[in-house]
Amino acid sequence: MASGIVGDFFELKADSGADLLAMQMGDFYEFFGEDAELAGEELDLKVSERSSGGEPYAMAGVPVDDLTPYLKALVERGHRVAVADQREVDGEIVREIVRIVTPGTLLETDDETAQYLASVARSGDEYGLALCDVTTGRFRATTLSGDRAIDRTMTELYRFDPVEVLPGPTVRGDDDFLAGIRSDLDARLTLHETETFAPGRARHRLAQQFGDAVETVGLSEAATAAAGAAIDYIDETGVGSLAAVTRLGAYEPDDHVAVDATTQRNLELTDPMTAGGKTLFETIDHTETSAGGRLLGEWLTRPLRRRALLESRQAAVDALLGDALVREGIAETLSSAYDVERAASRAVSGSADADALLRVRETLALVPDLSERIDGSPELAASPVAALFSDLDRTAIADLRTDLDALADDPPKTLREGGLIERGHDDDLDELIERHESALEWFETLEERESKRHGLSRLTVGRNKTDGYYVQVGKSESDAVPDSYEGIKTLKNAERYVFDELREKERQVLHLEDKRAEREYEAFCRLRDAVAERAELLRAVGEALAELDVYCSLATHAARQGWSRPELVDEHVLDVEAGRHPVVETDTQFVPNDLYLDRDRRFLLVTGPNMSGKSTYMRQAALLTLLAQVGSFVPATAARVGLVDGIYTRVGALDELAGGRSTFMVEMEELSNILHSATEDSLVILDEVGRGTATYDGISIAWAATEYLHNEIGAFTLFATHYHELTALADELPRVENVHVAVAGEPDAETRTGDAVDGSSEGVTFLRTIEPGPTDRSYGVHVADLAGVPAPVVDRAGDVLSRLREERAIEAKGGDSGEPVQAVFDLADGEFQADEPAEADGRDDADPSVDPDTEAVLDELLNTSLAETSPVELMTRVREWQRRLDGE
Ligand code: ADP
Repeated sequence: MASGIVGDFFELKADSGADLLAMQMGDFYEFFGEDAELAGEELDLKVSERSSGGEPYAMAGVPVDDLTPYLKALVERGHRVAVADQREVDGEIVREIVRIVTPGTLLETDDETAQYLASVARSGDEYGLALCDVTTGRFRATTLSGDRAIDRTMTELYRFDPVEVLPGPTVRGDDDFLAGIRSDLDARLTLHETETFAPGRARHRLAQQFGDAVETVGLSEAATAAAGAAIDYIDETGVGSLAAVTRLGAYEPDDHVAVDATTQRNLELTDPMTAGGKTLFETIDHTETSAGGRLLGEWLTRPLRRRALLESRQAAVDALLGDALVREGIAETLSSAYDVERAASRAVSGSADADALLRVRETLALVPDLSERIDGSPELAASPVAALFSDLDRTAIADLRTDLDALADDPPKTLREGGLIERGHDDDLDELIERHESALEWFETLEERESKRHGLSRLTVGRNKTDGYYVQVGKSESDAVPDSYEGIKTLKNAERYVFDELREKERQVLHLEDKRAEREYEAFCRLRDAVAERAELLRAVGEALAELDVYCSLATHAARQGWSRPELVDEHVLDVEAGRHPVVETDTQFVPNDLYLDRDRRFLLVTGPNMSGKSTYMRQAALLTLLAQVGSFVPATAARVGLVDGIYTRVGALDELAGGRSTFMVEMEELSNILHSATEDSLVILDEVGRGTATYDGISIAWAATEYLHNEIGAFTLFATHYHELTALADELPRVENVHVAVAGEPDAETRTGDAVDGSSEGVTFLRTIEPGPTDRSYGVHVADLAGVPAPVVDRAGDVLSRLREERAIEAKGGDSGEPVQAVFDLADGEFQADEPAEADGRDDADPSVDPDTEAVLDELLNTSLAETSPVELMTRVREWQRRLDGE
């Protein structure tokens, strides 16, 4: 058992509930035991040993003055770190926890992205979500209710990408929710005290923090619980972050276009799907400031449905687009803007240093400059760009700048040693500085005076921490020093001395130095308080600058790539002339293409060989719609975009395994989510459905999903499929149209990937647990059912499947003619018809007349497990099969 100081450490650690404890021992903060090992590893600290109670304990420490960077490093790696300081009480040293630094409450971050702490609570069917970025003081809360509240909560979380999540007591037991957080977010999960989520206590906490605003904002019970617990948590960590959180904002997720986590990933909005992939954000981001970059990222992941607001954004972009010179000037000015929102938060919490205040001053100075540039351009002056600045309180900005003029231009890092404040702003301080400097003058001329007076040619004057001021005389002249000199130190070749007058003058200087530093520190604190008092103003300035930055960035990109302003309409239409994919067009000679959808032509079946551009075409439609609903211009010659309420995508990825679920299960879950969430105002992109299962199962599911989307939901849908059987649907369903990607040369030569995957160990291993037995070929439809695909779709898929099987039986017998046939489903009578052999698309999976060699190749092909075969091995095998099929 550890005792003494190590014992105290473990006791404090247990009380703190943190992952690590840094405990002050004199000039060091020490870690013991496992904490020391972890800190040693993460921070590259030297780990030593200390024995306690007869046992050795690992020990590592960092100097007291250097704690902050170490803390930051630990917290940014996801740890919660408690800090215990020591104090002397009645001659005894006591240690207590003074703060707990956590990923969601760290103020000292250098990371440019927003740093959200999220808190989630549930009340009945409603989910409450609170999000706080302590670095800027933003705090907002919302409620998600209705059918798929949990999924929408996950979507919101994914959008804000919090670094730390506090799950309330009612969601802690929800495995799906926790699994979702673990797989979709890179956030630390922290269990905060259950009682803080209780409605009464949460409401009280919010009232304490925000006063009457709580009533005005009107939060639901679930949102109140989440918000109250978040405030309590920030307060409890004791890092001073809470003071900056002054505004409570409720927001309505319904103003936004639903873009769920899967879709954000599929469309690669801010994160690439594959290493080295390029995101939409990266492609269009030309912002100059970190706040601008954050805002652009937020806009891209939160497209809007409010036409008036979007049109105002478009007008701003348009105006900037029209005046390249002014735009460049603005961008250049913005490049020296500092993150004033964060500086304001630091000022409020008392952690802003002189440098931060200096940058606030410099950034405020940009406001008149930017306004002048805007006013100087008639087009900008009449646009919403001008409105960004017209609402700012110019007098308050000018006053704050005048206050901050007192700050020295090149202030030191430390706040206690003077040098922070310019002369001319505080009479008392000016007098002190005057006296201090003339006292220093005496020392400046001392060397010359003393050398002359005593004829000492090797005399110098110096100052250091231990000796204070001294005169130093070379050994060769030590006999000539006057009696008034008193030796204080002997060096190898010299001797150091002091004398009475020097002591006296030193005392004066030190006294003046202290007083000056103290006075300057006080003046600095007053400046910091002045900034803190103006936190709201600084936030407004920060927001205006960030928004201007985003408009400039959008205009710059539109100008470079020749994008056009889309017409936003309320009717249900998507009409794109010569559209391009915003990311692909930047590094390819892109072939533009048109797209037209309206109420009567709402479903496009996209066919074409692999790599012909089907996915690109569909993603392009989604990205173009999304950009239009961000307020951006779009990559097209012209576009008319009816505002959508959601963009949903499901993109086939055969080799993707997510969280141990089978690929096909993931596919069906995604499909299920779309079929439940999409409305007739949504845009749905389906890039292969049913490909992860047996061919006939796949066709059946895809078939039924198409009918459901077309008949029941009515969403705009683009559906790429390699099942040519589905193209027959266009004749039967009035609003379905076929489109295909034109190709020159070789006809489609698609492989039977569906069957191949069935044969792979991955599919079978998973499916066996659901439906054992080798003869059941309909597990694809069962999985769809299991994944929550709506019942009518599952039933219909079963229906289609049994007909397909009947037809397969006919085919196996060689059909009526004995020739190879292609089955085409006739929806009019619900029967399959055999096409003429000439119209077959080259698939001969049921041809009874295949020769044994071909049969053998097919067998091998079917039994090849994609999961267990390397790409190189696969290529070798394919080459071998080709050789055998060619009869070589
Ligand atoms: P598919 O979905 O049919 O397999 P993809 O959409 O993945 O095909 O496109 C295949 C390749 O062709 C990609 O590298 C893509 O960048 C390129 N591509 C697609 N559409 C176009 C286009 N319109 N112009 C130029 N290149 C394109």
